[in-house]
Amino acid sequence: MLKLTNINKTFGDHHALKDINVTFNEHATTVILGPSGSGKSTLLRSLNFLEQPESGLYDFDGTILDLNKPVADKDIFRIRRETEMVFQNYNLFPHLTIVKNITEGPVQVLKQNKATATEKAHELLAKVGLAGNENKFPSQLSGGQAQRVAIARSLAMDPKYILLDEPTSALDPELELEVLKVLVEIAKEKRSMIIVTHNMAFAQKIADKIIFVENGEILFDGSKETFFHSDNQRINDFISAMT
Ligand code: ADP
Ligand code: MG
Repeated sequence: MLKLTNINKTFGDHHALKDINVTFNEHATTVILGPSGSGKSTLLRSLNFLEQPESGLYDFDGTILDLNKPVADKDIFRIRRETEMVFQNYNLFPHLTIVKNITEGPVQVLKQNKATATEKAHELLAKVGLAGNENKFPSQLSGGQAQRVAIARSLAMDPKYILLDEPTSALDPELELEVLKVLVEIAKEKRSMIIVTHNMAFAQKIADKIIFVENGEILFDGSKETFFHSDNQRINDFISAMT
């Protein structure tokens, strides 16, 4: 379980996260929604210390870090291993083949044996619909394929949580669809995912829980059924604007 208590993050005089309290359950998909600039990325990035809030408590499986104090590198390292981030622009290593992109983390960081990691990479590529592309380079892939490799790469690290920040916003609609399908399949395996998206149909399909962020605050935290049948005017305006 990943729990934030009274988290605050500022950028200069901009208060990006205001006293955030939220729990991300395991074996569930949480979707973070909200207008542009509301703090969604900051919240997601805070979960694996790409941003470091200046106050609050960060509880990972009962190990509580007090963010008012400097966080030790070993704690950040441990949390990063359990929270893999999938970026909007894939961030594949351009000089490595697809299979090496996937095995690099398991071999270098997790110290897996190369043959085991390679076999696992082949399985994961098949899972994301990319069997046969092992020896290509990222530049030979479409954006949708590249993002599916990035997803396979995050699965190879076997983290507790996979964090995805607008994973399809750089893609054309038909390429977006192939990535969303893969994510829906992964969600069925009851992995723990936290996804920022603007795609309402996808959110409605994949979410076990929805968090709605506005102005650095959480305005809603609950089931998708409640969210999509809300009597809150602000939420309904947002849903209408997005669909
Ligand atoms: P969202 O992902 O919801 O669009 P962000 O979390 O990226 O929003 O940003 C929230 C607010 O914090 C925005 O006003 C943004 O301009 C500001 N912000 C985000 N990152 C930085 C940064 N590194 N430096 C200064 N301001 C930032
Ligand atoms: Mg963002």
